Amino acid sequence: MTTEHARPRVAVSSCLLGCPVRYNGGHSRDRFLAAELSGYVDWVPICPEMEIGLGTPRETLRLERSPEGPRLVTRRSHADLTTPMTSLAAERAGSLDVDGYVFKAKSPSCGIHGVPLYSGEGVADRRHRGLFAGPVMDAHPLLAVEDEGRLRDAGLREAFVERIFAAARLRALLSGDWRPRDLVAFHSRHKMQILAHAPEAYRGLGRLVAAAGTAPHEPLAREYGLAFRVALARKATVGRHVNVLLHCLGMISERLDRARRADLVEVIASYRAGEVALSVPVALLRHHARGEGAAYVGGQSYLSPYPDRLRLRNHVAA
Ligand code: SF4
Repeated sequence: MTTEHARPRVAVSSCLLGCPVRYNGGHSRDRFLAAELSGYVDWVPICPEMEIGLGTPRETLRLERSPEGPRLVTRRSHADLTTPMTSLAAERAGSLDVDGYVFKAKSPSCGIHGVPLYSGEGVADRRHRGLFAGPVMDAHPLLAVEDEGRLRDAGLREAFVERIFAAARLRALLSGDWRPRDLVAFHSRHKMQILAHAPEAYRGLGRLVAAAGTAPHEPLAREYGLAFRVALARKATVGRHVNVLLHCLGMISERLDRARRADLVEVIASYRAGEVALSVPVALLRHHARGEGAAYVGGQSYLSPYPDRLRLRNHVAA
């Protein structure tokens, strides 16, 4: 069973793809999402305000403080839309089957952080989530979630894309008729990627895989899937990347002559020092691993976690 080319399924605030669903009939098309990522993922566009029956153009909405918590209210006519929006959020959250979600920043429905809460005419605070996004995030705490503003940060963008592709491969494996050897192969292929995020989780995942031949399939798949997604949600630090790169180098170093080995060591040191992007040592390692027929290292998802053409590892880590 191959999971290598699984396409992530990603929910997205419709306006970010250019759909004319905003209050004024316009959109908020995001170039990275609509032009670059679109070729590699299957979008699930959702506009909660349209789904609760508001058309375009419509009144703008805002969150207002109340003793029961934030309420979603139209600015001019003060219609309270809290109940339809929270019901929709519960319904959508219950049936959501995606590998990630990109929300529109700052929206009182879709915002994932920093949404202003009004009290009278003033802003009481700006720490809120939209009335649709909040319950969806609470229902799916391990889902890769971002907004288009945060995705302008190169590190956050890379981390998000890496997670949705890993989640898609996992989904492709576990939704099929997998056999224990498929899980072993998946785990083995993701070893370096897991180590770059959560080295302490790798052993626990390995214990689950070791039981694959005897344990009941469904609970095992649930447990492995959960632990895998928890591991990938941890931040991959420069230090962990360096450990992984050296680990990979160790596995192919006997096949390399002294000059090529020294070259790789130097490039890894330059990455550690913040002089070159992660793409540089990774590309060199992949080139040598595959050129030397080192199948185990060359086949690691760490070396190709998503399509190269997205060029996401080209920033120098701070
Ligand atoms: S931010 Fe959300 S609710 Fe507003 S237009 Fe975009 S998708 Fe619709």
